[in-house]
Amino acid sequence: MSDTQPIWIRDPQAILADDAERGIVVRQGRIVEKIAAGAVPVTPHAVVFDAAAHVVVPGLINTHHHFYQTLTRALPAAMDRELFPWLQALYPVWARLTPEALDLAVTVAMAELLLSGCTTTTDHHYVFPRGLEDAVDIEVAAAKRLGLRVLLTRGSMNLSQRDGGLPPDSVVQDEDTILADSERVVARHHQRGEDAMVQIALAPCSPFSVTTSLMTKTAALAERLDVRLHTHLAETEDENRFCEQKYGCRPLDYLEQCGWLGARTWLAHGIFFDAAEMRRLAKARTTISHCACSNQILASGCCPVCEMEAAGVGIGLGVDGSASNDESNLMQEVRAAFLLQRARYGVSKVSHKDALRWATKGSAACIGRPELGEIAVGKAADLALFKLDELRFSGAGDPLAALVLCGAHRADRVMVGGKWGVIDGAIPGLDIADLIRRHSAAAKKMQAG
Ligand SMILES: [Zn+2]
Repeated sequence: MSDTQPIWIRDPQAILADDAERGIVVRQGRIVEKIAAGAVPVTPHAVVFDAAAHVVVPGLINTHHHFYQTLTRALPAAMDRELFPWLQALYPVWARLTPEALDLAVTVAMAELLLSGCTTTTDHHYVFPRGLEDAVDIEVAAAKRLGLRVLLTRGSMNLSQRDGGLPPDSVVQDEDTILADSERVVARHHQRGEDAMVQIALAPCSPFSVTTSLMTKTAALAERLDVRLHTHLAETEDENRFCEQKYGCRPLDYLEQCGWLGARTWLAHGIFFDAAEMRRLAKARTTISHCACSNQILASGCCPVCEMEAAGVGIGLGVDGSASNDESNLMQEVRAAFLLQRARYGVSKVSHKDALRWATKGSAACIGRPELGEIAVGKAADLALFKLDELRFSGAGDPLAALVLCGAHRADRVMVGGKWGVIDGAIPGLDIADLIRRHSAAAKKMQAG
């Protein structure tokens, strides 16, 4: 079958789209037709993929992650701690990250994501110990191998303990090095246009690990290069206190002073914004990545998603790093966000469809890719197909609701840009057993020091 051959994904058990009861036709990486009940495709020569056993949803989009953290999951030294002491326990371990270990960590995270129905992911990589200058290049190569669509961020930290920041000196870089490398990775890897498979954004880590000068210069560089900006913000009360003590203002005021409050910025967490701050975010079209699992594990708090949406703030979902989730399963994240937000707002305000919307159309808007995240003509052929043949689904009524309520965790088929990235629950060409063996060994070595 050639890339140009149309595929009719025919007669799905259920599909998250209107007027597509008989499925959709994809061609050259796009959705070209929706087939309503009783109709057949007008696109000629479409080969048929029988989806009678599948529930079809737009490919899920992950808006926040730290792939390297798959090497430090469930680490005893960091467990049962809140954000700041959790970070302080992990920084010295992360300082031992090597190119080989990062390659394995990135492959593990991307494989987990793909198998969970994710078709586009971001990553926030901000640890650059000596010898790991090519971290973003390593990530790009892995994404190309696995066929995942990515928005990788060139993260950074330059405010160490010596200067009143949180991280140790061993994991920070200087401002000139960071800015020069940011420009290099954008020039080398960033693709533009609706079919882009690899994009780069710039992402100083947080107010407590980056200087004001680097925040400000990074915003100017992103403007000049026309790429997006990302950081952690309003994640904990500790961060509020840090900003008030060091900068004399709240995190959002600080963000604005650094030239970040605008449409190219998306923020991880956004738990501690007040009503006026939400209005400012909406007006600026700055969006939020909600990370339900991470926020619960670190007991950071609960992102006020419904108030944000009511104020006009765009919401996407993110699994966050694998040291605070500690999995990279985006379908499970949909369920976690559904449960957390329903517990907060009640049954009339949050449905399973809201949670699926945050992870698809919401996440697409969050990262500035409106051509993704929706099953509609002209949108990217990024799809996740789940089977309901596991014990957990037996007896389920509504197939789409079953994905969220019964806890779907593994896609049977995943399509990215019209190409199958997962077939029969496996990634073609990837030896998972071998990957686990090598990744586990690298993790053990890094943790042992
Ligand atoms: Zn994070």
